[in-house]
Amino acid sequence: QICLFPFPRRYVGFATLPNQVHRKSVKKGFDFTLMVAGESGMGKSTLVNSLFLTDLYRDRKLLNAEERISQTVEIIKHTVDIEEKGVKLKLTIVDTPGFGDAVNNNDWKPITDYIDQQFEQYFRDESGLNRKNIQDNRVHCCLYFIPPFGHGLRPVDVEFMKALHEKVNIIPLIAKADCLTPNEIKKLKDRIREEIDKFGIKVYQFPECDSDEDEEFKQLDKELKECTPFAVIGSNTVVEARGQRVRGRLYPWGIVEVENQSHCDFVKLRNMLIRSHMHDLKDVTCDVHYENYRSTAFRFKGSFSHHIRGLMFTVRPQLKRMQEMLNKMQQQMHEKDQ
Ligand code: GDP
Repeated sequence: QICLFPFPRRYVGFATLPNQVHRKSVKKGFDFTLMVAGESGMGKSTLVNSLFLTDLYRDRKLLNAEERISQTVEIIKHTVDIEEKGVKLKLTIVDTPGFGDAVNNNDWKPITDYIDQQFEQYFRDESGLNRKNIQDNRVHCCLYFIPPFGHGLRPVDVEFMKALHEKVNIIPLIAKADCLTPNEIKKLKDRIREEIDKFGIKVYQFPECDSDEDEEFKQLDKELKECTPFAVIGSNTVVEARGQRVRGRLYPWGIVEVENQSHCDFVKLRNMLIRSHMHDLKDVTCDVHYENYRSTAFRFKGSFSHHIRGLMFTVRPQLKRMQEMLNKMQQQMHEKDQ
């Protein structure tokens, strides 16, 4: 178990959540499943390690070019328990390595299948006997890494996001933002936002801010919405900057600080993921994406019979009890008659 609390000063984590949520879920801890997708080499694992301050990918084997090309999309799951001020978060990272390496890029099936399988499992558990202790493995969010080198979205980015947007909350990111000047970042963000609209891609929409929120909160919310798609930088090393040890990248011409808000949107992304919007991401997963899945599943006979079977499991104990009562009554009547 990794304790996050002694880490960076600016770290704001999920331990602030107890005020907002039920004490029981605090005791039990939170579950959150995050998927990362995008071309390999885009800095996915570095960013995940930077976000959660842990080296999840220590044992990863790097593939050579030949292996990468023949590699099919393979899903790998890492789980990490994070604890802060006694509040637990069970974080599952679903990595989709190899995506973008194969020549034929339009095969997202293993990824969409994975998301559907988690829905299917939840659907079955929900209709089963042990409904109180369901393990929620549904994917709550997918961070999609867009390369910083192009002039906007590539056809492959459009196709990928469209294949997933009805199933999961997509948060697009501009990867390796240190390759771009602030002006270039602004241009690329504008372009990506335009293209997301033009191609009808449904990325995660931040909820509207309540009108009775204080001005500072409203301002933060506005800034958060305006800075999408988040431009991120990751690093696994700690460097010295302005007399402090910070997570950053050391170049011959200077230092790029991961947690410096004038260098990139890393802090905004982390805060929204594990602080301000974690619950909304889970709610949208449940109320929109899972409901979509359920309504589609009901249309298919196979899944329907699945559900009926699940219901039978649920009512079976009651039926058994009723049968026992009937037997007893029958016996009593029989005894009376004699
Ligand atoms: P993945 O295959 O998408 O998981 O990519 P990795 O995290 O393994 O990163 C691939 C390479 O890019 C490594 O050499 C990293 O050090 C480097 N890298 C990761 N993040 C960044 C970043 O934000 N900026 C730059 N310039 N390089 C990065």
